[in-house]
Amino acid sequence: NKISIAIDGPASAGKSTVAKILAKKMCYIYLDTGAMYRAVTLAVLNNGISPEKADEVAALLPSIEIGFEQGKNGQLVFLNGADVTEAVRQPEVTNNVSQIAAQEAVRVDLVKRQQEYGKHGGIVMDGRDIGTAVLPNAEVKIFLVASVEERAERRYQENISKGIMTDFETLKKEIEERDFKDTTREISPLVQADDAVKIDTTGMSIEDVVNAIENVVNA
Ligand code: C5P
Repeated sequence: NKISIAIDGPASAGKSTVAKILAKKMCYIYLDTGAMYRAVTLAVLNNGISPEKADEVAALLPSIEIGFEQGKNGQLVFLNGADVTEAVRQPEVTNNVSQIAAQEAVRVDLVKRQQEYGKHGGIVMDGRDIGTAVLPNAEVKIFLVASVEERAERRYQENISKGIMTDFETLKKEIEERDFKDTTREISPLVQADDAVKIDTTGMSIEDVVNAIENVVNA
């Protein structure tokens, strides 16, 4: 029997890394809902719209087509047919996405699309509001957290592996700012669902985190 697994938590807590591994092991679909908010943000920026102009952002939504495909090196993200896998990770998108994600029209639209993906189960979804709003009936809900130092360190190492030099303190500040916006917005703020299992991944290896989630799935 195929279930739904919701993985929520703050930025850089390791959600997508473990969600991908888990989905692969279980032969489930993996849906990166953060990539969808990022794709909308990229579309907004590409169209020269100011991210704070909620009515202009809302008007753009019907023309935004978001798709996923399995590439050689992982999942690819498409925006209106163009591969934007790299583009949605650019700092300009990262630094504007929380403002876009706080807008009601954006959330209503994307949550509907996400629920469509999840309607038959057999899915691992990661994000901020999966257990609370997108899949409130998910059989397994995980809330992943880690200290901000560790999360900044992971981002730092990730950037180094991509050949990008960044300042640790700047990364830390950006993560804290995004967490603040995500936890204090009015609609579906980042919060642990009552029935979610919290896992603090500070000091844990990826394998340990995957094992911990598998134990919850098999419980
Ligand atoms: O997970 P990721 O860091 O890619 O998410 C980018 C941003 O998208 C988050 O900081 C948050 O503002 C927004 N988001 C959201 N709800 C989700 C997933 C992401 O609001 N389910």
